[in-house]
Amino acid sequence: MTTLDEERREALTEYIAQVRDALNLQAYKIVLRDGPPPGREEATAMIQPVDGRMMAELWLGPSFWIETPEEQRQTIAHEMLHVLHRDATDVIRLGAWIRHVGQGTYDATWEVFRDHIEKMVDRLSVIVAPRLPLPELATAGDTPHVAPLMPHGPVAVDTTQAGSVE
Ligand SMILES: [Zn+2]
Repeated sequence: MTTLDEERREALTEYIAQVRDALNLQAYKIVLRDGPPPGREEATAMIQPVDGRMMAELWLGPSFWIETPEEQRQTIAHEMLHVLHRDATDVIRLGAWIRHVGQGTYDATWEVFRDHIEKMVDRLSVIVAPRLPLPELATAGDTPHVAPLMPHGPVAVDTTQAGSVE
């Protein structure tokens, strides 16, 4: 489903750059992807830093376009704040320690970590968003907000690697 026509892409690209700079994330390239977040079509938005690159992909679902400007601002702030904790997240997601635990321990750790990070980011977005300019992207609507996702999915643990304590 296409939600990102040229007019929206242009306005959004400019707005994202403003937010990115306000959060001191100038080193990042934010790539807008058309359509809803893959695999999470009901989500308002999702951002996913690309491994090994100073780049993140941002998806905005159809419900983003019927949010109020205030909601859109908070959604964008929320997604961009996820980029700020990328390195800390990768300690859990990609850390060498994952080779020393079983998949169950890793999955449980990831799930709890992800939940706590999501809560932190959402609280921070409430504080940060009012300090950002309002976007001028779409008309206001009153569709309920669907919580955006955290970047990155879990990785599979290879317990056959040397160093396993099992
Ligand atoms: Zn989130």
